[in-house]
Amino acid sequence: MSELQKSISQSNGDTLSLNEKPEEEPYVKTTLESLRICLFSNQEFDGVKKCLDHMRLKYNFRIVDIESLINLKGLLAYIAERIQLGKMCLYCDKQFKTAARCQQHMIDMGHCMMPMDADDEYEFFYDYRRAFANLNVKKKSKVLQISYD
Ligand SMILES: [Zn+2]
Repeated sequence: MSELQKSISQSNGDTLSLNEKPEEEPYVKTTLESLRICLFSNQEFDGVKKCLDHMRLKYNFRIVDIESLINLKGLLAYIAERIQLGKMCLYCDKQFKTAARCQQHMIDMGHCMMPMDADDEYEFFYDYRRAFANLNVKKKSKVLQISYD
C-alpha cells in the first residue's frame, strides 16, 4: 500500500465516524416540487384540490381562515419550505434532523395542522379586511371558540 493510499484509508476510516455524518435523506419528490404533493406523505395527486382533500380527510389538515386566504399556492409553498427545509413541525415548531422525521412526528402526534394563533406568521397570505368587511365570522368563531363579548 502506498503512503497516499494509506492516508486515504486512514482519513476514511479514522477521522470520520458514522455518528458525525449528517443524516442523509434519500431524494424524494415533495411539495417543494409540486403543490399537488401531500405535505405529510409526499403522495402525488392529479391536482392541488385533490391533494388538499386528501390532506383534510387523511390528516385533518385544514387551512385556517380559508375565506380570507388570498394566496393559496404561496401559503402551501411556504408550509412546504417550513417542513422540508426548516424541518419544523407545522403545529408545535419542534425541529427535526430530517424532513421525513418531521413529517412522521406530525402524523404520529396529529400535528398536521396550522396553529390557530399564528396569524402573524401567515398573514402575508391573507387579507383579513375582507372578513371584517362582511363580519360573517361564524365559521371562525366555531373553529376558534372565541367569544367576542
Ligand atoms: Zn408537533
